[in-house]
Amino acid sequence: MSASHPPAAPPQRFLSRIGARISGARVGRRGSPSGAARSLGGLVFLGLSALLGGCGEREGGMIELSGPTMGTYYSVKVVRPPPGLTREGLQQGVDGVLQGVNRQISTYDPESELSRFNRSSSTEWVEVSPGLLGVVAEGQRTSGLSEGAFDITVGPLVNLWGFGPDPRTDRVPADQAIEEARQRVGYQRLWGRAEPPALRKERADLYLDLSALGEGYGADRVAEYLIGRGATDFMVAVAGAIRVQGHNAKGSPWAIAIEEPTPGKRAVQRIIQITGEGLSTSGDYRNYFEQDGKRYSHEIDPRTGRPVEHRLASVTVVSASAMRADALATALMVLGEERGVALAEAQGLAALFIVRTAEGFREQNTRAFGRYLAQ
Ligand code: ADP
Ligand code: MG
Repeated sequence: MSASHPPAAPPQRFLSRIGARISGARVGRRGSPSGAARSLGGLVFLGLSALLGGCGEREGGMIELSGPTMGTYYSVKVVRPPPGLTREGLQQGVDGVLQGVNRQISTYDPESELSRFNRSSSTEWVEVSPGLLGVVAEGQRTSGLSEGAFDITVGPLVNLWGFGPDPRTDRVPADQAIEEARQRVGYQRLWGRAEPPALRKERADLYLDLSALGEGYGADRVAEYLIGRGATDFMVAVAGAIRVQGHNAKGSPWAIAIEEPTPGKRAVQRIIQITGEGLSTSGDYRNYFEQDGKRYSHEIDPRTGRPVEHRLASVTVVSASAMRADALATALMVLGEERGVALAEAQGLAALFIVRTAEGFREQNTRAFGRYLAQ
């Protein structure tokens, strides 16, 4: 928790910063990605979705939807759809849900609720939708848990390094610019309250980036929508964030492919089966640029102001919701192999770490992840 409570609001109204909180999680990334590395986000996703659920499912009756969202792609499969649910109706519904999510939390839409909050120069409480507040709360919780490795106020650094809504520069920024952006980062300067839902910045130039958990939030919202329509067996994927419910057409748990974290390659590292949970993978191999032979990924360490540098290539987390899995995967990715594994074990998280070695890759999983491997 921060030592500096803003004086104006009673403490019980703050959302706690628990612990004291998510293919390019480009929430609403504009246009199509350019460059070989980035375009892989979509390709990988498509390749992955082809593997989800396996073959022969059409026999059991399945509605399949897909489309663009958040600068990437989504895929939805509903098996044994309840009577009356049509493909067209579902497509409209799902697109509507995802558009709504973008209008709430995208930094790529200048008129989204989040962009308006980011632009606001007020350091007073600003009322926001419960949805936006919920995503921020998950973000703050993950910050507390990871002691600031995860930080949704990292936006100025993300943008400076060219991984935000502005056109890519693919260049390492000047030290001074990094230092200046770093001054604006700090989740302790962001406050939330539930009644009525509102956010408050301690610095007017705080800028939130929810991309690290936005895909997960989108997958959860679509899942809620499907449950509301009576669906019981489905799989929702928004890029690397996945939420599954029930069983596939064969009556088995859904099979999810975790890819080999090699740029430009679409190979399966491992397939796991889950049901009733969310899953997300973060990696440094899809969204990055190279300068002088060095790779700079979109996972930024808020403490150094620079992209993370370690041998950890990807982290996959299984959690109750896709949003939580998304946030945690990014947090562990930023923490790196040693500290990430230690935190995941201490918190009982189900996580799979894929680490680069001279020979290829080494997998390391937490105890809680063991049950997904035992199948
Ligand atoms: P992906 O799904 O593409 O692997 P992640 O879910 O890991 O991506 O989210 C990465 C995105 O999160 C970055 O593009 C950036 O917008 C944002 N981000 C980068 N570093 C951090 C951080 N330390 N904490 C929170 N968000 C971050
Ligand atoms: Mg994430």
